[in-house]
Amino acid sequence: MEKTFTEQMQELLYAQKREILEGLAATNEEFRAIVAEMDPKDVADVASDDIDRKMIEALGSQDIKRLKAIDAALTRVSQGRYGLCMACGKKIPQERLAAIPYAVLCIQCQKSEERRNR
Ligand SMILES: [Zn+2]
Repeated sequence: MEKTFTEQMQELLYAQKREILEGLAATNEEFRAIVAEMDPKDVADVASDDIDRKMIEALGSQDIKRLKAIDAALTRVSQGRYGLCMACGKKIPQERLAAIPYAVLCIQCQKSEERRNR
């Protein structure tokens, strides 16, 4: 059976998350020890909340943001709400999701969010 778009995006999200966590494991001994004890397929299931402060400090703020966004997107997948804007509930275009699988806001809401944070 062909995979749905959401399933494809979910796989991408897991792959990106694993990449970040592996990058962290490569630079942080403590985290490497944790990962070494885990089943490789479970590594991607580590919630960013489970990663303690020290490890978060080892990660760049850019990676943390991405990790949190990925987690949020994966939560949306499990809620069956992936691809719907978190703010307005409208569908996020698939091109946008294909480019940024962890996008949880449509372009319009993203823009107003950026305006607010400025
Ligand atoms: Zn929106």
